[in-house]
Amino acid sequence: MLRTHKLGEADRIITLLTRNHGRVRAVAKGVRRTTSRWGSRLEPFTHVDLQLAEGRNLDTITQAETLSPFSGEIGLDYERYTSGTVMLETADRLVSEERQPALQQFLLLVGGLRAMASGERGPSQVLDSYLLRSLAVAGYAPSFEHCARCGDEGPHRWFSPAAGGVLCATCRVPGSANPAPQTIAVLGALLAGDWEAVAAADPRHLREASGVIAAYLAWHLERGLRSLEHLERR
Ligand SMILES: [Zn+2]
Repeated sequence: MLRTHKLGEADRIITLLTRNHGRVRAVAKGVRRTTSRWGSRLEPFTHVDLQLAEGRNLDTITQAETLSPFSGEIGLDYERYTSGTVMLETADRLVSEERQPALQQFLLLVGGLRAMASGERGPSQVLDSYLLRSLAVAGYAPSFEHCARCGDEGPHRWFSPAAGGVLCATCRVPGSANPAPQTIAVLGALLAGDWEAVAAADPRHLREASGVIAAYLAWHLERGLRSLEHLERR
């Protein structure tokens, strides 16, 4: 469940990321009535098993069974909630075509929400790792080792969202960021899912990495994500 918006008096249009059909929009009838039989099953974050009836324009949801009620654990914690919202919004933007299978994006999102709900890792780090991996799956894999221009082996000191990663001293472009070497190492660990290295990192470098990732994401999505502005970083 990525997002919902109102339709008429009592209905909602629900945008879903599905395992087999990619992004799907469907109507949930009566979901805004207080006596709705849907309860919380059709709210953002929830992982559900759905049945749809084909409609003229949009399909209608006829049945929903909760598989994982991530909304409970995520909704109770402000930092998890704001980070999780950025994840949903990113998935919504990166999987823009309707009904084009996007299994890898689906699995990444479910895995990320599960990690976010469990609270075992920092919400910021779960989000950052998710953002890098979903961008990579969407074809925007950043390079944190080799120079993104000439391929020269790193480590390199400069980072440019437009160039797609780190740059060597020769290839560096005006406006390149100059993050700490440890930050670039953390970025690589977040992309690879090397949680041991992430856990050992200095909070300062984790924060700097978050800034680099936000810039990279914003560049690729052309404009910043709305929910990212509300995100408070520790
Ligand atoms: Zn280079």
